[in-house]
Amino acid sequence: MIVEPKVREFICTTAHPEGCRENVRNQIAYVKAQKIDGAPKKVLIIGSSTGYGLASRITAAFGCHAATLGIMFEKAAAGKRTATPGWYNTAAFEEEAAKEGLYAKTINGDAFSKEVKEQAIAMIQKDLGKVDLVIYSLAAPRRTDAQGKTWVSSLKTTDQPFTEKSLDLKNNTIVTKTVEPAQEGELEGTIKVMGGEDWMDWMDALKAADVLEKDAVTVAYSYIGPELTYPIYFDGTIGQAKKHLTKTAHEINEKYSDVQAYISVNKALVTQASAAIPIVPLYFAILYKVMKKQGNHEGCIEQITRLFKDRLSQENVPVDEEGRIRMDDWELSESVQKEVMECWEKVTTENVGEISDIEGYWEDFYHMFGFHFDDIDYTKDIDVEVKIPSLA
Ligand code: NAD
Repeated sequence: MIVEPKVREFICTTAHPEGCRENVRNQIAYVKAQKIDGAPKKVLIIGSSTGYGLASRITAAFGCHAATLGIMFEKAAAGKRTATPGWYNTAAFEEEAAKEGLYAKTINGDAFSKEVKEQAIAMIQKDLGKVDLVIYSLAAPRRTDAQGKTWVSSLKTTDQPFTEKSLDLKNNTIVTKTVEPAQEGELEGTIKVMGGEDWMDWMDALKAADVLEKDAVTVAYSYIGPELTYPIYFDGTIGQAKKHLTKTAHEINEKYSDVQAYISVNKALVTQASAAIPIVPLYFAILYKVMKKQGNHEGCIEQITRLFKDRLSQENVPVDEEGRIRMDDWELSESVQKEVMECWEKVTTENVGEISDIEGYWEDFYHMFGFHFDDIDYTKDIDVEVKIPSLA
């Protein structure tokens, strides 16, 4: 089948297996060129197939030679429908890991469920004994909790409507967008899905089964961003969920003296999860332009390699006053933010191509789904039914 991108606003409904492989290979090549000391050896990654979780898995495996168990929620190809990019990424990852003799297995299922937690624990007991690092990198629209209640996450403000400039992804024009305040139950739902309750459930389950090494580390990913996006992000429903996640890190540390829980506040990057947040894509496109110009732009793999290399491997992991690891240090630096805000004031439909890196934004977007890679022949007929070795 010839696979072409089918883009609907912030989602692409097709994925290219060869392009996804290229994406994974590029990340592996980057990581292999780095030197990471004091590395984890057995790593559980919850949300391992795309974005920051995939970058974490690649860094652990190819930077630290770690065995990795990944948890993801992806779809295989069915008839004329391609698989999701996370499916193809994981197939490519496992194949590359096998070439280097690295243990890599994956569970495809709902990480929020008790069954997947039990399955993961059984696999750790059988194959790895214990794990020394747990990465929590879920970005999900809903969660069914242990009582069977389904909670839905929303991207809303928590008080007033918020009106700002926004990039219309359908035609790259600058429009004005209003984000409405959360309705009854929406804030609670977002905290239930994207807050720390499930992270704590995972840590409780892993601890109860005695599958965590002494002094194991666990890291969950968060975001803060500039004041400009506070109403929709930091002070919005998602920001409240992230505050809950930070609180959970402290609770894990208090509950388990031989576990170190961290929040890593990462940089804004185009991923399937972040592309869906209103107003934020325009900020991303401007940020990319400024950071590329200043020479400090990073993608997921550069961020996570730096997290492992310069933060997690330190005897005293550098944290801010709230105990958080700050990988958004360069994004939020004064020089970057000053220039971003100047561009934000000036940006219009006429100058958006010049003032922002809209091309870079779209390039990252297409790459996520395996498109726009120079070395891939997209006119070639390909088999979209790809098997993930550990799931075959
Ligand atoms: P993503 O959409 O690329 O990845 C989400 C991952 O979660 C995928 O592997 C997916 O398969 C998995 N997943 C989703 N629902 C699942 C379920 N029910 N069961 C099992 N797996 C499930 O997202 P991302 O942007 O990499 O986000 C990961 C984390 O990083 C989130 O906590 C996000 O808030 C945070 N973060 C993102 C950014 C950004 O700009 N993208 C910045 C800072 C922090």
